[in-house]
Amino acid sequence: MIDAGLPVRAFFTTRDGGASQDPYGSLNVAVHVGDDPAAVDDNRRRVSRAAGADVTFLTAEHGIRVAHISAPLASAPPADVLVTTTPGVALGTIAADCLPILLHDASTDAVAAVHVGRPGLFAGAIDAAWAALLDARAAEAGPHAIRAAIGPAICGRCYEVPEDLREEVARRHPAARAVTSWGTPALDLPRAAEARLGELGAREIVRIPVCTREDARLYSYRRDGVTGRHAGVIVHP
Ligand SMILES: [Zn+2]
Repeated sequence: MIDAGLPVRAFFTTRDGGASQDPYGSLNVAVHVGDDPAAVDDNRRRVSRAAGADVTFLTAEHGIRVAHISAPLASAPPADVLVTTTPGVALGTIAADCLPILLHDASTDAVAAVHVGRPGLFAGAIDAAWAALLDARAAEAGPHAIRAAIGPAICGRCYEVPEDLREEVARRHPAARAVTSWGTPALDLPRAAEARLGELGAREIVRIPVCTREDARLYSYRRDGVTGRHAGVIVHP
């Protein structure tokens, strides 16, 4: 587990401490990747124990849909943003190179778990999560009460893309323009997310400086193809 550095219970899991066999070993939380469903259930229970509450894991669709969760669900509706305003409810996002982002609004204690890949960044998933937290407020509080944690993700030196795709994304998110360590066009999604959260007015942005492709403790779709997913978890206090 990697602490997210937020003032509520929030963390990112690694591959360690689960029941799954390779190539999913061992703490895979995703049901859609071909792993043994019983092992995934076991792993999700382990993550829930670490959270101190039953975690509702999102069902990512690489979009900007928001789902409001008021009680734990075994299966969340397809959405890349989960939000709760209910005390004790725990939310989980999943990723393996994409960005797991956790948000906490100190003015309401509302929390969000967000899955952001290249399509989601481009479509505005971070803005959708931000707007959902503002919508949850009963009174105006200003944006500066919201803290964010950006978890382990593929870095700008590793995420190679065709040049036209880099330019398309960089027109909207200039901070995404990057070059791989081998000199080809790339995207730096964590840097772009940090820039966008800064523009929105985040009070604090925690970056977990771990590249999933380079660090074997994390799952990486780019590195391994068939593999599991790690989690980002946040609990409404
Ligand atoms: Zn990297």
